[in-house]
Amino acid sequence: MNTKRQDSNLAFPWKTSIGTSASQLALASNKFQTPCPPTPLLSPYWVAQNDALRSELGLDGQIWQSEPVLHALAGNAVLEGSHPTASVYSGHQFGVWAGQLGDGRAISLGVIDTPQGSQEIQLKGAGPTPYSRRGDGRAVLRSSIREFLASEAMHGLGIATTRALCITGSPTLVYREEAETAAVVTRVAPSFVRFGHFEHFAANDDIEALQSLADQVIAQHMPELLDLQGAQRYAALLQEVVQRTACMMAQWQSVGFCHGVMNTDNMSILGLTLDYGPFQFMDSFNPNHICNHSDTQGRYAFARQPQIANWNLYALAQALMPLIHDQDLVLSALQTFQTAYPHQLDVRMGAKLGMNFPLEGDRALMQNLLKLLHESRVDYTIFWRRLSHAVAESEHCSQSFEPVRDLFLNRQAFDDWQMGYLNRLDEKASPSSTTSTIARVSRQHIGQQMLRVNPKYVLRNHLGELAIRQAKAGDFGMIQELLNVLHSPFEEHTHFDTWAGFAPEWASSLDISCSS
Ligand code: AMP
Ligand code: MG
Repeated sequence: MNTKRQDSNLAFPWKTSIGTSASQLALASNKFQTPCPPTPLLSPYWVAQNDALRSELGLDGQIWQSEPVLHALAGNAVLEGSHPTASVYSGHQFGVWAGQLGDGRAISLGVIDTPQGSQEIQLKGAGPTPYSRRGDGRAVLRSSIREFLASEAMHGLGIATTRALCITGSPTLVYREEAETAAVVTRVAPSFVRFGHFEHFAANDDIEALQSLADQVIAQHMPELLDLQGAQRYAALLQEVVQRTACMMAQWQSVGFCHGVMNTDNMSILGLTLDYGPFQFMDSFNPNHICNHSDTQGRYAFARQPQIANWNLYALAQALMPLIHDQDLVLSALQTFQTAYPHQLDVRMGAKLGMNFPLEGDRALMQNLLKLLHESRVDYTIFWRRLSHAVAESEHCSQSFEPVRDLFLNRQAFDDWQMGYLNRLDEKASPSSTTSTIARVSRQHIGQQMLRVNPKYVLRNHLGELAIRQAKAGDFGMIQELLNVLHSPFEEHTHFDTWAGFAPEWASSLDISCSS
């Protein structure tokens, strides 16, 4: 097999003019990104393909399943019109300034026009870049499968995220704790710009590049801010990022998602979930859960995520200060997190409970529930799904809450909570009425709505692990099946019921570290 890079003749809808996307910014001046071709990978093969995303992007199936594209996405050819680059960024890691980082193993192929708007295509694990530092520029099959499935699972849940188009594998060995085989994930997003990109130029006192980056992000992704001038424009950018980040945090918390490495270089300026490493969808509920075994202090523990997001936003604000100058403007943009996050969380948690409008006492009801879930270490996803069914069936079946009750050690405490909950559900008031005149919505209807927001399936660690084990043995079937199920996690998919069950005993001993 010839692994020398070749030029491919594939017709490809790349945007022609450099500088049309934020991440192609300043290529000419070389401040933001550096030309960097991928390094060829020996004997590539398909590990997984995401047909649904390919259709969404309007990419031709014939071409995208072809040998030449396989080789191009493994770094053995450069697609016609593509100008591969790696970008530079800095960041705070575990709360400490880490200086320059950059795309150490992600190589951008460029931006294409799609029915979903402009999308950047990036190869993660495509070989060394000028920013690889001591790293090899590679990613292993195991972590690539996790990233592929996680991004698509998040999308299926309706959570803002980068997407994953396919995985290509290779027998080439990569050395982590042990020798593993290499893989490349083809990632897709409107932009991969991170908080750390802004921090980089601010730290280097390059205000021109900082402003240029901010203007590009605004022009490409927040054009409604273009009418604003000077400080107002950049304060509005900050506020937009605050809002998007607050929304993403509420989404993470509501589904029990732990990111694991919320460093500022892993925070997307568009509020997308980015860089899936030691992430985890929680099995049993524990607000103190730490999914990254390298996070010895628990900085990124589940319940701390919103507060850490806020901390990261302060780091971004600090970086934008040279464009805004006015501390009061910056602070008022930052302070919107304090209302946006609780509001977003109330909306999402309310919907999970089947309460579509807020009433006094709802937060207490929710907090009491989370306390009970924690005390009994109840499986988070199973609880919500069972609760949804219980509500839907409660008018016809007096025993409908039994499967929910069974999840708790302290049954009496659950009974007390349930009584308050059902009283609240049966409230006849609506937000628009001060009197209780609105017709009562049936519990069956409420339960059906709950089933549309409480997923049956999430990417539990053990499911990812089983798919990885099978893939290592050469069988990629489970990856594809999981992908299909996770794309519509609120559907029953009865054939895959076991994937909606409790995590097995061995799942708790899975060691998820930063090594990838
Ligand atoms: P992460 O913790 O995955 O967000 O990575 C932090 C930084 O390390 C980023 O700059 C990555 O590009 C870089 N990095 C991680 N793994 C590798 C690797 N195997 N080779 C080169 N750079 C890497
Ligand atoms: Mg990263």
